[in-house]
Amino acid sequence: MPHPSLDIERLLGGIRDRDRAVIGRALTLVESNLATDRRLAQELLTVLLPLTGSSQRIGISGVPGVGKSTFIETFGCSVVDKGHRVAVLAVDPSSSVSKGSILGDKTRMEKLAVSDAAFIRPSPTGGSLGGVARKTRESILVCEAAGYDVVLVETVGVGQSETAVAGMVDCFLLLMLTGAGDELQGIKRGILELADVIAVNKADGANAEAAERARTELERALAILRPAGDDGWTPRVVISSGLNGAGIDEVWKIIEEHRTLLDADGGLERRRRKQLLGWMWEMVDEGLRNAVRENPAVAATLGSVESDVLEGRTTPSAAAEAILRTFGT
Ligand code: GDP
Repeated sequence: MPHPSLDIERLLGGIRDRDRAVIGRALTLVESNLATDRRLAQELLTVLLPLTGSSQRIGISGVPGVGKSTFIETFGCSVVDKGHRVAVLAVDPSSSVSKGSILGDKTRMEKLAVSDAAFIRPSPTGGSLGGVARKTRESILVCEAAGYDVVLVETVGVGQSETAVAGMVDCFLLLMLTGAGDELQGIKRGILELADVIAVNKADGANAEAAERARTELERALAILRPAGDDGWTPRVVISSGLNGAGIDEVWKIIEEHRTLLDADGGLERRRRKQLLGWMWEMVDEGLRNAVRENPAVAATLGSVESDVLEGRTTPSAAAEAILRTFGT
């Protein structure tokens, strides 16, 4: 077996040289749950750290069918044409090998997938949201070290995945469809607090007018619901079409404006520092949860504690306290 540090050297060299095969190997390493791989991955990430941080990290969310793949294809190609290198990652905790990934799918981004300046990686499969989010966060660092200066992180609006992605990007873009009248009805309230930019998508053909009306309505609603945040940014609403390219340049322009604002007063630094601590605590939470579940003493009593709760002999709170006592906290 080669000495691990030799492997790290080789990976580092390949990533710096922007060797796609090596980048793929590094991503596989950070996606692995094996303890030996985890150690190697942490070693790799430590040496990569000085090469990271300079990309624009952009989250893109929206329900299945809103047009994410099509949007990312058009948007990604347009950003590549502006001279950038684009990586596309995904967070989809629902995807598993058997179900197949619906995000970050190369076959749905054909032009971008063959671009030398783009790298598309499907969502890591299986595991908890925390696990998938950890892998994607580390993948962002690998992509940055490999010279991708725009990193798009795609997610569906399932469970907490939007919150997880918002916690790892500089700018969060929500794609929406026009609804029947009440545009806010379909949006989860929480997402409005996360979105920096909202694009009413599929604004083409017969839908263009309705999209423009939805845009106006959303903008008005947002002004009331979400005044400028701590960072001084007021969320913006645009109309877009991944199909005919409408609004694609405008979205990029707004993302750049957002970045300029964040850069100007240290907002980016503040946002990222907050995210780092959030990330650390998530890892602690996840680690503790796993440690509790895997603890032999806890495991031995779990069956009876669970049935006590299910059969009403004890309350969930009392059972939780008992589990934690058994764990030794
Ligand atoms: P995703 O599930 O959010 O990734 O959505 P897709 O990009 O796969 O698109 C879902 C469907 O909507 C496909 O049939 C696309 O052809 C169609 N679609 C995507 N973007 C647009 C758009 O901008 N305008 C129109 N009219 N259709 C679109």
